Amino acid sequence: MTNQNKSDQSGSKFCEYCEHTGIIRHPYYKETGEEPLSPCPRCVLSVCKCNSEEPYFYYDGGIRECECRETRMKIDRIKFIYAASAIDKKYQWRFINEFESRNKLTDTAKSAAYDIIRSFPDVKKGLYLWGNPGTGKTLLSTIILTELIIRHAVEGRFVKISRNFFNRLRATFAEGSETYGTSSAIEREFAEVDVLVIDDFGTQRDSTWEQETLYNLVDARYEAEKFTIFTSNNSPLTALKDISGGRVLSRIKEMCRIMEISGPDYRETL
Ligand SMILES: [Zn+2]
Ligand SMILES: [Zn+2]
Repeated sequence: MTNQNKSDQSGSKFCEYCEHTGIIRHPYYKETGEEPLSPCPRCVLSVCKCNSEEPYFYYDGGIRECECRETRMKIDRIKFIYAASAIDKKYQWRFINEFESRNKLTDTAKSAAYDIIRSFPDVKKGLYLWGNPGTGKTLLSTIILTELIIRHAVEGRFVKISRNFFNRLRATFAEGSETYGTSSAIEREFAEVDVLVIDDFGTQRDSTWEQETLYNLVDARYEAEKFTIFTSNNSPLTALKDISGGRVLSRIKEMCRIMEISGPDYRETL
C-alpha cells in the first residue's frame, strides 16, 4: 500500500467521512429535528458559498454555480423518489449499519444485504427472506430499499400483500369506482419499478384471482429481470408449493436467493 489517501484512490471529489457520496445521513433526524440527509460538512459545506440559498448561485463578477449545487440537487432527487416509495413511516430512513444481527441467520442475511447494496445494479438475484414474525425481515428489506435509493437514486417501491392490496386492485375493475380502469397502470408500475419489496408474501390466498394476480406480478418482474425482495412468514418451499400449480415457486427459485431469518421476536425493540 502507498500513502495515497482514500479519496484519491476512489477518484471521488467527496471525502471519506461521507463515504465519497457528499451526503451525510442522520439516523436520529426525528429526535434532533434535522433533515434525514444533508450535504457533507467536510467536503461540501466547507466549499459552499451560497449558504444553501436558492438557486444556489453566487456573484463573483457574474453568476456562478455553487460547489454544493450538485449535491443539493441529488438530495432533492432522492427525497422525491423516497416520497413515492410507500415505505411505512416507522421503517423510513433506516440504514444498514443500524441493523443488528443477533444470530447466525440474521448475520448471513445482513452480509447478503451489504453485498447487494455495494454491487447494485450488478446483482444477479433478488432475496426471499422468510422466518417467524418479528425477526426483522421487513426492516432489513426496507433498509436495502432505502440504501439503494440513496446510493443509486433508483426508483423503488414497497408493497404489502394484504387484504387491502387486493381490495385496491379489485376496485380498479369495478365500474364507477374512482380508480376504475387503472389496473393495468398499477400492474405496470409494480412490474417496471427498478426495485420492489413485496412484504408478507406467500400467505394462503383463497381465490384463484388473487393467486393469479400474484403470479402475474412475480412473472412480470422475472421477465423484466427486475430486482425484487420478498418477505414471508413461511418457507416458500411449503407455502408456495401449491400456488398456481407451483409456477410461483419455480419463478422465485430462479430469481431469488432464499434465506431464512428465524429467531426470537424483536419487534418491541424497533
Ligand atoms: Zn464528505
Ligand atoms: Zn452552496
